Amino acid sequence: MLNIRIEKTTAPKAKPTDESKLGFGQIFSDHMFIMDYSDGEWHDARIVPFQDLCYSPGTAVFHYGCEIFEGLKAYRTADGNVQLFRPIENVKRMNNSAERICLPQMAEEDMLQAIKAFVEVEKDWVPHAEGTSLYLRPFLLGTDETLGVHTIKKAQFIIIGSPSGSYYPEGINPVKIMIETEDVRAVRGGTGYAKCGGNYAASTRAGHKAELKGYSQVLWLDGVEQKYIEEVGAMNVMFKIDGVVVTPQLIGSILPGITRKSCIELLQDKGIKVEERRISAEELFQALRDGKLEEAWGTGTAAVVSPIGELAFGDEKYTVNDFKIGETTQWLYDTLTGMQWGKLPDNKGWIVPVE
Ligand SMILES: *Cc1c(COP(=O)(O)O)cnc(C)c1O
Repeated sequence: MLNIRIEKTTAPKAKPTDESKLGFGQIFSDHMFIMDYSDGEWHDARIVPFQDLCYSPGTAVFHYGCEIFEGLKAYRTADGNVQLFRPIENVKRMNNSAERICLPQMAEEDMLQAIKAFVEVEKDWVPHAEGTSLYLRPFLLGTDETLGVHTIKKAQFIIIGSPSGSYYPEGINPVKIMIETEDVRAVRGGTGYAKCGGNYAASTRAGHKAELKGYSQVLWLDGVEQKYIEEVGAMNVMFKIDGVVVTPQLIGSILPGITRKSCIELLQDKGIKVEERRISAEELFQALRDGKLEEAWGTGTAAVVSPIGELAFGDEKYTVNDFKIGETTQWLYDTLTGMQWGKLPDNKGWIVPVE
């Protein structure tokens, strides 16, 4: 149990009046949670006014990328309450990410308490309009002041919040995706399964190239044979082929998404067959040529699901489901968002109210 000191701001910012123009991650709420780690323990948990951080230029995180993060949302229900979706999964994943890059882990109940306490203080920053949320960004960084490459002895855990708009203000639009054949995002044995900033640094170039060619994102192939599909942009990916949902299995180079896990459970509950296995780009394009690829979509907290309307592999281009959102994709979107915003009953025990 953390003893959290709370220092409220004396200069609260004006809350956005037009929630339709929120965008994503552009503005920040009034406070932040911080906790320090040194001498083998976490201490000084506090919620303080949102402010700049001040570090020595010799701080480890600037040089060696020892940083991990999480992303989750606080949702406002129709009756005005605020709730979280499976936050314990974020807590567990944060500890797994920390373990991978030798940052300190934290007691699960402490991290959950920190997230809830922060949301409680920032409750008025959870927007009200349809599809909006307070995006929560917990992150953890190594703060040792040395250029020597050693395991981290000092760290900070921080949570900030950003009121964010609906991902689909104009309705769900399918996106165009290009298979990336040069860069890889992660390799087995590497940090692909950890949510660390370094993975994003490594994937920026391919995303940029794809955008220049008119695509929204890349479809990543595995780092060993460059044959098997791993993820789409910073989302997990699923395909419905001949009535069966196929998604790449978690083999260390893929981020274990909470949306991915939730979709698999919901699909199985509904009696739809889900296969977690290797799927090659060749198999996917053969399914496209045979007319057997019924739907394709990405999954992640920000978008929930993002239907794929076009796939390109070199010079070959195919439209998926006439560039429309598929039945299964739409059902997953409606079911997940229904639970998250409290419009559907939570029969899975996934919702955690904040009070
Ligand atoms: C966060 C993330 C995802 C999606 O995870 P969710 O828990 O569903 O939000 C997928 N891939 C990458 C690379 C990610 O960083």
